Amino acid sequence: MSQTDEPGKRFAADIMLGRLARWLRVLGFDARSMVIANRFLIASLLFEGFIPVTRREKFRDREGVIFIRGNHHFEQLRELISLAALGREEVRLFSRCILCNAALEDVLAEVVFGVVPDHVFETVSDFRRCPQCARVYWPGSHRRKMVRQLETLTGWSLLEGEEGGR
Ligand SMILES: [Zn+2]
Repeated sequence: MSQTDEPGKRFAADIMLGRLARWLRVLGFDARSMVIANRFLIASLLFEGFIPVTRREKFRDREGVIFIRGNHHFEQLRELISLAALGREEVRLFSRCILCNAALEDVLAEVVFGVVPDHVFETVSDFRRCPQCARVYWPGSHRRKMVRQLETLTGWSLLEGEEGGR
């Protein structure tokens, strides 16, 4: 685990890049989704320290903006990792809600009793919850599948230290 907790890169992805934003959240990056249709919003996002991410042609050459060419979300993620020069050390796997981007909170198993399926409650002890939408996250096969996809895509080794290490 990294020793620093400084705020990482923050992204504001255009609404049409919703799946890309979700994958960024899986990796733990602050990735908001919004309609970014005019240059005033771009300017204000840049001013606030966000990196706007877009596929709109009119912003292709705008300084500070990441322009995505790919059609598929994995292709888009690979492009973004390269263009934003993201590194493995910046990854905080499963630290954000995939749906609303909020930072997840550790919760005790008792708190999620009746909320998660019984077999999960009986076998898992590591639960996190989204403070905004209350969705509960836990390690499991679905998560491992996502990690494997991300490892193939990025070439990073992600699993070690993340699962079972807490
Ligand atoms: Zn949420």
